[in-house]
Amino acid sequence: MEAKLIKKDALAEVVKRIAGQKLVYAPVKDGSRVNFKYLDQGESAFLDYGNSTNAPKNIFFPQTETMMRYTRTDKGNKLVSAQENIDEMVLFGVRPCDLRSFKLLDMVFDQEKYSDPYYVKRRQQTTIVAMACRQPPSSICFCTSVGGHPYLSDGADILISELDDNEFLVEFLSSKGESLAKLFGSLDDATDTSMARKNELSEASAAAIKSTIPATEIKPWLDENFDHPYWDTIHQSCLACGTCSYLCPTCHCFDIKDEVTGDDGLRLRTWDSCMYSIYSKETSGHNPRPGQKQRWRQRLMHKFKYFVDNFNAISCVGCGRCVANCPVNTDIRKVVSDIAKL
Ligand code: SF4
Ligand code: SF4
Repeated sequence: MEAKLIKKDALAEVVKRIAGQKLVYAPVKDGSRVNFKYLDQGESAFLDYGNSTNAPKNIFFPQTETMMRYTRTDKGNKLVSAQENIDEMVLFGVRPCDLRSFKLLDMVFDQEKYSDPYYVKRRQQTTIVAMACRQPPSSICFCTSVGGHPYLSDGADILISELDDNEFLVEFLSSKGESLAKLFGSLDDATDTSMARKNELSEASAAAIKSTIPATEIKPWLDENFDHPYWDTIHQSCLACGTCSYLCPTCHCFDIKDEVTGDDGLRLRTWDSCMYSIYSKETSGHNPRPGQKQRWRQRLMHKFKYFVDNFNAISCVGCGRCVANCPVNTDIRKVVSDIAKL
């Protein structure tokens, strides 16, 4: 593994150089928000950010994706194309909590018994450049409570860590990462002192995360209390807007629908949310989750019980997006903490 040093003002040029050769998905300033998007020609990434408003999962699991195109003929429907061509891409500047979300999404979309070709192809075609959090980016993120760390590198091809206000350490962690090395230009080797500084900052950053939740403690209670009166309390103000699911890096529910114009058809996969009333409605009209109480319980149970049962992992990376963006200030940290006291 190679480790190099780069000046902060040279990093933006590196992104432009990469974007000259490959599709780059990176954070971009959007008014008061920062959102991940594919960079347009000449567009700059905004790397001086805490965390993005949207989760970068869109690169592997697009909000809307064409699964196939077909056309109607006298002999029935004929397949025109089964899967879009996916070019090589670089996901640049992803934070460690979101990096961890990809491991959780892999558990769903890339299993031995079931592998989703759309997701897997995008994963294979993407090089991930992660950026460690020198300072916890917000007062509401809690990655260390759910198995994460602000300097986590597992799953990254390159990890960039800020050493001081003007210098970054660049660690090339995989062959995919190394193949991008030439686009970083000629850089000085990192020294033992720089590696020690990174370790020092890593410990300080983890220690600075003040928001903690008893995430691993509530599973036994969830196992036993599907019908507990507590579930009558948390949904009361929920608007069923779906913001929490759409911004969540680990939520992965989708719907599949066909759009037909004349003889030409498209099969589309789009994000869905368990917070919506028709999400679980069956063709008969029966809805096994008829109210927001059942939907809120489902969201919590899925992240802290069902996913643990299925994959031995909590399906929350502590990014805090649902806390920051819920229009009625529902706070998943409080829900988990309250459950731990029951
Ligand atoms: S963001 Fe808040 S109001 Fe909207 S569905 Fe989620 S919990 Fe309900
Ligand atoms: S549940 Fe909330 S805090 Fe956890 S990963 Fe999803 S958006 Fe982030």
